Amino acid sequence: MSFNDLAAALEARRQENLYRQRRVLESAQGPEVSVDGKRYLAFCSNDYLGLANHPEVIAALKQGADTYGVGGGASHLVNGHSQAHHALEEELAAFTGRERVLLFSTGYMANIGAINALIDKQGAVFQDRLNHASLLDAGLLSGARFQRYLHNDPDSLAQRLSRPEARRKLVVTDGVFSMDGDIANLPELSRVTRENDGWLMVDDAHGFGCLGATGAGCVEHFGLSNEDVPVLIGTLGKGFGTSGAFVAGSEVLIETLIQFARTYIYTTSMSPAVAQATRASLKLVQAEVWRRDKLAQLIQRFRHGCEQLGYELMDSPTPIQPIMIGDAGEAMRISAALEARGIFISAIRPPTVPAGSSRLRVTLSAAHSEEQVDRLLEALDVVRSGGAA
Ligand code: PMP
Repeated sequence: MSFNDLAAALEARRQENLYRQRRVLESAQGPEVSVDGKRYLAFCSNDYLGLANHPEVIAALKQGADTYGVGGGASHLVNGHSQAHHALEEELAAFTGRERVLLFSTGYMANIGAINALIDKQGAVFQDRLNHASLLDAGLLSGARFQRYLHNDPDSLAQRLSRPEARRKLVVTDGVFSMDGDIANLPELSRVTRENDGWLMVDDAHGFGCLGATGAGCVEHFGLSNEDVPVLIGTLGKGFGTSGAFVAGSEVLIETLIQFARTYIYTTSMSPAVAQATRASLKLVQAEVWRRDKLAQLIQRFRHGCEQLGYELMDSPTPIQPIMIGDAGEAMRISAALEARGIFISAIRPPTVPAGSSRLRVTLSAAHSEEQVDRLLEALDVVRSGGAA
């Protein structure tokens, strides 16, 4: 059997300027990274608080490996559930103010597992049309009646929710939209969901650690109750700087997931050393409030600078600050021109974002300095006109 058909699809993707390529990093995450022997100022990591390479997190990882080894060894329900995992679950439950928390190996798996444990063919799932791919995939996989509502639009949700007669209705939204950076209107979305007897699930991958006075995320940001958002997802590979994810909620929710979430049951537990490292991250998220304050200042500085340069930004108060370009080829050109000036930002193109809305997804971190943000602004000024690569 030949792969000609696959090769043709790859070529078509190349022709459309949509071909994706990996870059090999030779250094740790940080404001500066090393790629292909060159140093770059990077604005594309999700390490928003600068914890991925923090000495205390690294020390905890090493100590965790010394105590529990590197590999989880088995699934949580066999014998892969260590004291480090257990303690992290309890600490995250206290931090989020929930009865219980359950760890998953990745956010993608948490979303697939949770949605499929909660609804099936008899149910209906309602999702923001800009939700993360893992949420959309999970909804399709569930076999439930699947409806998308207009982006961050409670009225559009209300219209759809009032129609179907379903055994269970699950409304799902990103807390912070991963490609636009805006925050979901959770007070209204939760009101509409409760009025229609549904459950609201929020994936706070990008808000957890960054939003709210203590970093507990978008639920804290809006001062909502656990009843408003009964199913909360947090990921650990972004603001927390490690990897993995969790679902937080009631005793009944978590026991349901332990019994029915297949991506929990049939997979090796996250590395216990990573669980131990994440416990250190959690302490830093709570203790080092300056990281959120500094991030807020850098966001202001960047937005102000871009406005002066005439770049189009999204309505985002978060560390995700996309610069809208539109055409995929032009986004690639600017990304390459920035790279030639020692700045690393990836161009985000369809199918990750809708056609015609290619963008440079700038992300800021508490580890950046004001001077580094200014260097980015200077480079953006130079590359804008099309020359100067
Ligand atoms: N949800 C959202 C909103 C995300 O942006 C991402 C990752 N980009 C995920 C879930 C998946 O998380 P993980 O990387 O831990 O699989």
